[in-house]
Amino acid sequence: MRLLMKFGGTSVGDGDRIRKVVDILEPYHEEGHELGVVVSAMSGVTNQIIEMANEVVTCKEKPGIEPFITQLRERHRKALEVAAPDYLEETGRILEGRLSDLRNMFMGLNNLRELTPRSRDYIISFGERLSAPVIRAALRQRGIPSVVLDGCEAGITTTATHGDGIVIPESEAKIRGRILPLLQDSVPVIMGYMGCTPQGITTTLGRSGSDYSATVVGAAIGADEIWIWTDVDGIMTTDPRLVREARVLPSVSYLEAMELSFFGAKVMHPRSIEPAMRKGIPIRVKNTFNPSHPGTCITKEKRRARRVVKALTHITGVALINVNGAQMIGRPGVARAIFTALADKEVNVMMISQGSSEANISIIVELDHMEIAAEALKPMVQQGIVRDVTANPDVAAVAVVGAGMIGTPGISGRIFTALGLAGVNIMMISQGSSEVNISFVVKESDGPKAVRVLHEELRLSEEQDG
Ligand code: ADP
Ligand code: ASP
Ligand code: MG
Repeated sequence: MRLLMKFGGTSVGDGDRIRKVVDILEPYHEEGHELGVVVSAMSGVTNQIIEMANEVVTCKEKPGIEPFITQLRERHRKALEVAAPDYLEETGRILEGRLSDLRNMFMGLNNLRELTPRSRDYIISFGERLSAPVIRAALRQRGIPSVVLDGCEAGITTTATHGDGIVIPESEAKIRGRILPLLQDSVPVIMGYMGCTPQGITTTLGRSGSDYSATVVGAAIGADEIWIWTDVDGIMTTDPRLVREARVLPSVSYLEAMELSFFGAKVMHPRSIEPAMRKGIPIRVKNTFNPSHPGTCITKEKRRARRVVKALTHITGVALINVNGAQMIGRPGVARAIFTALADKEVNVMMISQGSSEANISIIVELDHMEIAAEALKPMVQQGIVRDVTANPDVAAVAVVGAGMIGTPGISGRIFTALGLAGVNIMMISQGSSEVNISFVVKESDGPKAVRVLHEELRLSEEQDG
């Protein structure tokens, strides 16, 4: 078999965990399977680099660059000591070179007090630039030949949308050309989260982007399966941090996984399902800390699941924009004007709902885009096209996901009755035409309660048939 395995930040968080990663890979290597590996930065490192980058461009005092570099050095060297003692010197030298690049960049940014999207992407890719050599060394320590490639070397080519790179079609042949020959006699370790433009400028794929790197590489090399190793047993009925009774789903369809990741289930990157779906490659989500658990398998829907609703997600960091005004009734082109104004300002619209009276259009946007969105719509009020525009940051969105909802009557009745009885006020409802998802908006403080009420009402903690 040809397998692509991705290990997330917690799975490579320290030397002991990296040894566990090798424990997982070793038997597959010995059985003669072809293995490609994609890795994240050690847990927390990307956040720390982002914080440091912000500090060096804003701080008035001398920023703490040196202590930061020292702390990164200690953490990665300690991991090397535990997982690859024989490579302390060789890999240590590589780490030193990267740390020195990082220090120079922080100093440059500090001098300029400027952080462009392009330099930001390069600097935040350093978490993976530091973790991957350690993981390669740990494999070699156990006699497994390995090479390391950054995202660009692996052929991951993206749009120039820094911080949110989208992989472009020409990547596929490049990745195949670069990775396939390596699989014969080594286990390539590819740095996740990053790629480059066709001109070779480093880009990142959005937070949690290593999942996306994994499916892009897995699809390009024609992997039989893609395994996403993380710190929970699989995709669960909801975020286990919100509902203790959340259960692991044995299987979900590509479509369901896509809806869940679009609507905030942090377990997978939103763009990561599509590359595998296009090639029909199954994705398994598994727990590095509990490898014998079968995890969740994401595949094409084979049969109609008995269970109608599969999972719930909860999204914060969003805002509700209400566009009101009877002037909209029966007037063509108002919706177009609204969404064009938002698109012109690059506001990402996450949910839309329009009342049948046409007097109101509600839109959910990312919180960071709220001010820009409200500002973009102001001219329409001045021109008398709409009466007013309000923006409310105090909201959360909840999505109910399950392919079984298609054509099944009564689900929304159950959902909204349960919420009503629990005293949760609904501010907006939206159902995608795919019917795989019903989402609604509540006051931010009501979000966790809404999720708990529905988890109970829909009996999601009970055994499921997949
Ligand atoms: P990794 O570093 O391995 O990529 P992440 O932290 O990105 O791991 O994703 C795993 C986390 O996602 C879990 O620890 C869990 O708290 C969170 N999570 C949110 N929603 C879900 C869900 N529906 N199923 C499983 N985990 C979820
Ligand atoms: N290290 C990156 C992040 O923290 C990518 C990833 O972990 O998937 O977002
Ligand atoms: Mg992740």
